[in-house]
Amino acid sequence: MAKTRASAFHGGLSYVRPDPAGPWGTFLEQIERVTPHLGELADLAETLRRPKRTLIVDVPIEMDDGSVGHFEGFRVQHSLSRGPGKGGVRFHPGVTLEEVMALAGWMTVKNAAVNLPFGGAKGGVRLDPKKLSKKEIERVTRRYTSEIGGIIGPQQDIPAPDVNTDAQIMAWMMDTYAMNTGLANTGVVTGKPVNLGGSLGRAQATGRGVFVIGCDALRRLDMPLEGARIAVQGFGNVGACAAALFAEAGAKIVAVQDSRGAVANASGLNVAELLQHSRGGSGVAGFSGAETIDREAFWDVACDVLIPAALEGQLTAARAGRIAARLVLEGANGPTLPEADDTLAERGIIVVPDVICNAGGVTVSYFEWVQDFASYFWTEEEINGRLAQILRGALRHIWETAERRKVPLRTAAFIVACERVLTAHRERGLYP
Ligand code: NAD
Repeated sequence: MAKTRASAFHGGLSYVRPDPAGPWGTFLEQIERVTPHLGELADLAETLRRPKRTLIVDVPIEMDDGSVGHFEGFRVQHSLSRGPGKGGVRFHPGVTLEEVMALAGWMTVKNAAVNLPFGGAKGGVRLDPKKLSKKEIERVTRRYTSEIGGIIGPQQDIPAPDVNTDAQIMAWMMDTYAMNTGLANTGVVTGKPVNLGGSLGRAQATGRGVFVIGCDALRRLDMPLEGARIAVQGFGNVGACAAALFAEAGAKIVAVQDSRGAVANASGLNVAELLQHSRGGSGVAGFSGAETIDREAFWDVACDVLIPAALEGQLTAARAGRIAARLVLEGANGPTLPEADDTLAERGIIVVPDVICNAGGVTVSYFEWVQDFASYFWTEEEINGRLAQILRGALRHIWETAERRKVPLRTAAFIVACERVLTAHRERGLYP
């Protein structure tokens, strides 16, 4: 295959002006950092700076008051070299094309790092779910699914839940796709209710993956799990589930921050009670079993492990210089800025990157997709066992690569993943 000529400046796409501190800027910088390690495949790295397909759609719906509301929707297929696109759908007021492009790029890397037979994709709708009724959310979901319907499908691109989307939203997506195509293709989305072809264990899979990877990383660093002090940012699907599993295993959850506030308790929070409190609608703030602290003070809490499990760009260089943890487990996608990576490396703090640490969700999504094709379903025990086996194997390979190449775990994960993606790209050749 002919060499790709590098563009005038990396990421030179006319339709985005990447903010270096934004998510797509972060992704481009991560690609920049891995490229010198890719040998002759480095000539093909330009393809990683250019999403394969970018779809922007208008999502008009009838609001409950009879007016028409318009929402911006996106679906980005970053790479399809290794298989159909795979990645979640986010509903959030901060969703932008740039963000969805980065999240799709991270899915390409993640699916390859874990060796799942998928490319990378992501979707999102720019809306504030707190301001919409359930019926309005359903209408947005159905119209968005119809608008992106031409490029999704069990062999094309398979959406899943992400921030503010859940099994119910996946059920509406699956139903809309079935109504539009006339095909009962349950494998068009994953993270569906178990009753509709969903997989046991999927709802907890990302948090469980953070736990499995975290236990393995602690062991490799000779840090005891029993009594380990853990601070968690984000108390949603990923953060709350990881916190519960760590607490159950003997660690202490000493601080939790969410979008509304932060709480701390040096003796360890009762995670089940905190979850009940936060589901009351006020988030974690005001929980009686802990001290409510300033949101920014969360980054100064004495802890051994930090789990960012909220949004991207949270661990800035300044915060990286303050945190007490020795180990960072990235539950969120893209939580650490590249300058923060440098600060953490200088301080000897180990970061297990998102592309392996939060890969439990997409791994069980893969199991769900396989089960849907076979119409034969596995037990939760089988699912959790295979999940742990795949994640531990992927971490071992990445850890050994980091040691052999003397690079941080993020660079090692990108080396392993980008080699797989670019080898597939080279083997397929350039069409036509
Ligand atoms: P969620 O909507 O269930 O929860 C998000 C949590 O983050 C909430 O507690 C919210 O209050 C908090 N949060 C939002 N903005 C914040 C801010 N500025 N500061 C502090 N806290 C904030 O979402 P989730 O599914 O748990 O996803 C969290 C992260 O994990 C995202 O980066 C997502 O892309 C990533 N992720 C999710 C999955 C999955 O299966 N759900 C899989 C892989 C990665």
